[in-house]
Amino acid sequence: MDLLVGHTQGKSNSQFEFYPYRYFAAEGFLPGFNFPRLPVRAFIPAGEGGEFISRPRSMALREFAPNNILYYEGSKFMVAKTKTPVGGIEGEYKRVSVCANCGYYHDGDFRDTCENCGAEIKPDIHGNVAKLTRVLPMETAIARRRERITCDEEERLKYGYNITTHFRYASQKRESAIIQAADGTPLFKLTYGATATIWRINRGLKKNREERGFKLNPTTGVWGDNKNPQTQQTPDSLHTEVNLMVDDTCNILVVEPLNVPVEDREAFIATLQYVLETAIQAVYKLEANELDSERLGEGKYLLFWEAAEGGAGVLSQLLEKPEAFRKIADAALDICHFKEAKDSCIQACYECLLSYRNQFDHALINRHIIKPWLDVLLESNVITQVKGLSRDEQYQKLLEQTDPNSNFERVVLQEIYLRGYKLPDAAQELIPEAKCKPDFIYREEAIAVFCDGSVHDSPDKRRQDQIERDNLRYETGYNIITLRHNEDWRAKLVILGSL
Ligand SMILES: [Zn+2]
Ligand SMILES: [Zn+2]
Repeated sequence: MDLLVGHTQGKSNSQFEFYPYRYFAAEGFLPGFNFPRLPVRAFIPAGEGGEFISRPRSMALREFAPNNILYYEGSKFMVAKTKTPVGGIEGEYKRVSVCANCGYYHDGDFRDTCENCGAEIKPDIHGNVAKLTRVLPMETAIARRRERITCDEEERLKYGYNITTHFRYASQKRESAIIQAADGTPLFKLTYGATATIWRINRGLKKNREERGFKLNPTTGVWGDNKNPQTQQTPDSLHTEVNLMVDDTCNILVVEPLNVPVEDREAFIATLQYVLETAIQAVYKLEANELDSERLGEGKYLLFWEAAEGGAGVLSQLLEKPEAFRKIADAALDICHFKEAKDSCIQACYECLLSYRNQFDHALINRHIIKPWLDVLLESNVITQVKGLSRDEQYQKLLEQTDPNSNFERVVLQEIYLRGYKLPDAAQELIPEAKCKPDFIYREEAIAVFCDGSVHDSPDKRRQDQIERDNLRYETGYNIITLRHNEDWRAKLVILGSL
């Protein structure tokens, strides 16, 4: 009770880290949207009863991670447990597939291809698994006092955690544009997503990469000791490969650089990331903590997000105003001392592109390799709003619309795509007159394609399908093409070749 109302140690409510309204919102008793974005809490058994401390979610993913050491009022504590829900931990796990190429996030049934870029879902170049079965959204952590930390433990923690970042657009909330040089060379593709979601997954200690995720006792919520399981619990009672996850909602901008120079590719992309970040901050007068960025997947995509509460509303303007990137290039040339030379700055300095936050990239950042690119951006860029969708984009859109439970649909779509046939106009679109949802439709040609996977095998289902499709033909005049998974559907597909 004292903890809830904040009466401990005579502190008033406002100074108290444990904010009762936030607590009620976190537990679902009050709607959360009126309060500052909900942080993650950790319980520290200090003094009488204990104290809750809280951290913003992305920070909590490291600080409150299993077995991490917390320093609190001069004592050492170790994160020992996670709060377990009444229904048990099993129901909390999410199955997640992430794209190694672009970082896109999918949950639910595992996918074979990325909804965003169409790439195959497979482990990334660092060996991070793409399909995860035990991803646990982060809950309140519980710490216990640990006076002695062994050198071994310190050593393992020193390298930190292996954290990957992923994102997903909210449906119907994305816009794309391409920035071109004067000669028409595309420079980069922009995709803006309002109220998109960013996920971060903590996949375990960096030091023991070969051992993926964390170990968790599903009954007690106690994190297993990665190093020495015997001393804690019998290993078979532990869940292994448990990954921790936090999410945030914000406006994002995904930048896909095109025609990147082959030489110094990594340095070029890293420099581009910080040049764009610093220049956007300068042009739109944002604080450093209002706009943040990261390289995604295998470094081919840059993710920018408005980190401030509610968003700064800047990223959406970049697509709308054709002159936006000319201004950004101009500011970037100024920031990188190309307008007024600074001889003491060799590759980059703290006055231009370096900051404490990007220290891990300092060796890569080099203002000189980005100069020619900035000149092009300054002189001649034109924004072409992408009005109609390109073939690839249409393919991605259709992949997204397919029924997540039907892999056969995606196999058929991929075949259509690979053969270079005309792509359908829509997938899973309801035709109201017939109360029917064909898997794919071609509107102009009035063709409806049905892809029958194994769930359509039973005689009952087949009869029902037949009635539905006859009805569609009768009501709308659509031609019906039925492809069954266990027949030679590839031969049948030739019909679409003449569209
Ligand atoms: Zn992808
Ligand atoms: Zn400098």
